[in-house]
Amino acid sequence: MMLRRNVSKVLCLGLTLVIAVNLFLVFYTKGTLQKLILGSIQKELHLPLSEWNGAVIKRLSHLEVDLQHLKESLKEERMKDREHPVQKAVESKANETKKDKPQKALFPDSQLFKRWGEGLSEAQQKEAQDLFQKFGYNVYLSNQLPLDRAIPDTRDSRCLLKTYSSQLPSLSVILIFMNEALSIILRAITSIINRTPSRLLKEIILVDDFSSNEELKAYLEEKIKLYNQKYPGLLKIIRHTERKGLAQARNAGREAATADVVAILDAHIEVNVGWAEPILARIQEDRTVIVSPVFDNIRFDTFELTKYELAVDGFNWELWCRYDPLPKAWIDLHDVTAPVKSPSIMGILAANRLFLGEIGSLDGGMLVYGGENVELSLRVWQCGGRIEVLPCCRVAHLERHHKPYALDLSLVLKRNALRVAEIWMDEYKDMVYFAWNIPLQNSGIDYGDISSRMALRGKLKCQSFDWYLKNVYPILKPIHNIVGYGRLKNSLDENVCLDQGPISDNTPIMYHCHEYNTQNVYYHLTGEFYVGPLIAEAYTDDRCLTDPGYGEKAMLKPCSKAAKNNLHIYWDFKPGRAVINRATKRCLEMKKDTSGVYRLVLQTCTSQVWTIQYTVRNWGSN
Ligand code: UDP
Ligand code: MN
Repeated sequence: MMLRRNVSKVLCLGLTLVIAVNLFLVFYTKGTLQKLILGSIQKELHLPLSEWNGAVIKRLSHLEVDLQHLKESLKEERMKDREHPVQKAVESKANETKKDKPQKALFPDSQLFKRWGEGLSEAQQKEAQDLFQKFGYNVYLSNQLPLDRAIPDTRDSRCLLKTYSSQLPSLSVILIFMNEALSIILRAITSIINRTPSRLLKEIILVDDFSSNEELKAYLEEKIKLYNQKYPGLLKIIRHTERKGLAQARNAGREAATADVVAILDAHIEVNVGWAEPILARIQEDRTVIVSPVFDNIRFDTFELTKYELAVDGFNWELWCRYDPLPKAWIDLHDVTAPVKSPSIMGILAANRLFLGEIGSLDGGMLVYGGENVELSLRVWQCGGRIEVLPCCRVAHLERHHKPYALDLSLVLKRNALRVAEIWMDEYKDMVYFAWNIPLQNSGIDYGDISSRMALRGKLKCQSFDWYLKNVYPILKPIHNIVGYGRLKNSLDENVCLDQGPISDNTPIMYHCHEYNTQNVYYHLTGEFYVGPLIAEAYTDDRCLTDPGYGEKAMLKPCSKAAKNNLHIYWDFKPGRAVINRATKRCLEMKKDTSGVYRLVLQTCTSQVWTIQYTVRNWGSN
């Protein structure tokens, strides 16, 4: 009797708790979702004009998804109103209480709290902010979310109709990490176990690139033991005893792997349903294909998923990754599930384990981060393989707010880019030097020993970069007649440089000289001056220094449009001489304004002269 009464008491208490937790969850997620949607729409409407077309397309497609979410959330909201009047009352009561006691926002400027964190106590805010600074994402929230949380299935519905052979190859999944939060790694593992058919998943290999984070030591080992009790032999871990960088971490994972196919992922991912089958089927069909999933974004602050539209993985002349439009040949197939030919990968990849080894894995001479994806891509294409994005394979990847392993990546990005250029890009390598504003001779940058990679290129009998541009990546447009580049300075004051100025003004200015590419200038033998970051691709125009023919101000105009409209974009110039517009005969000069600051003007020439930082092959004469 006594027992029964206690049982019903416990039951009653339990039930109350469950209801309370549910109410809290409903209230909490709704608030977060609304904030997320409104915030992201507001952000999307402030499209920076400097973004290249691809980014704009991507942003617009996000906007579309956001609007869809908004519509759905409003619909849900109306349904809730009808269905749960009691719940509504509880929620508005909770809102009132919140209004009564507003929490002081301790970090109003932190990106972590722009869309998240309302109602946290000061101690909680501090804890969340500390974790955010350490990891670059919201570890406080990650630690509360279930490891097996659901994420939206972002595949096109036609992917669900696909069927696959019952005899697919086996899969090793490699997760590399450096100071990642434990809950993030465990969620990645959980998603892989839950969303990969167990008969296909041979192993998950963790590669720790010398993390210092304590929880990734004994505690992670303990977790691995537990997984292996449940799934014998599934998890393995490799530990680097010094930092080797991401290329070597990925290579270490591949070398330890034993399955037919390797999928090499970051540890801050959640794979989506049905992700593995398209990879295995495609690689079974053709062992020389390196494939990339389509990525969705896990927001670093709210952990909400943002769906990304299918796109091609490309890169610019800095060899920095970007998304490009889908190829016409693919669109004409009218099959949204068909693999998309892609010039590059973003980083994450899957491949036939042996083929990846034969072709040279990743270049272990790449330091820290960056460049290794383009190096592999050029090698694969130029040496007989291909790269494809698989529309039905979706992996959610957390784009960190900042990286825990480096504050400024530009030095190593530049260094690794030069390594790629020197090994693979033949006579086109100058474009990489131009884009990074590095002198062609005596760059002072040590890109390491490339002899073994050059030997590999010979051994594999690879095609030229010219072949790659023509057959794989015609969007990139090399420029052949640049004769001077770098900072453009007037001899009156060498502390100021020509600068593209605020992007929406289309008006170049003189500005204190700095390192950023907004002060890059490229002079062509044909007379154009490109100003700002080098673009040199098919869908976006570089911006040309233009004399509008009236007033004092020079302008920046999209070059090919300006050329078509006969705007005055051609200038006579040689280092140490005047910059004279060929059509208007006016000179680009500087004039002190009333406050003593130099302004850029177009005027009748007064014999001012300019210098440009680097010259190419003796001004094109050899
Ligand atoms: N990484 C590594 N060693 C390093 C730098 C990076 O193992 O020295 C790993 C990192 O932990 C991550 C992967 O390389 O799993 C890719 O880096 P990240 O996620 O920072 O790049 P993103 O995905 O933002 O391009
Ligand atoms: Mn990553």
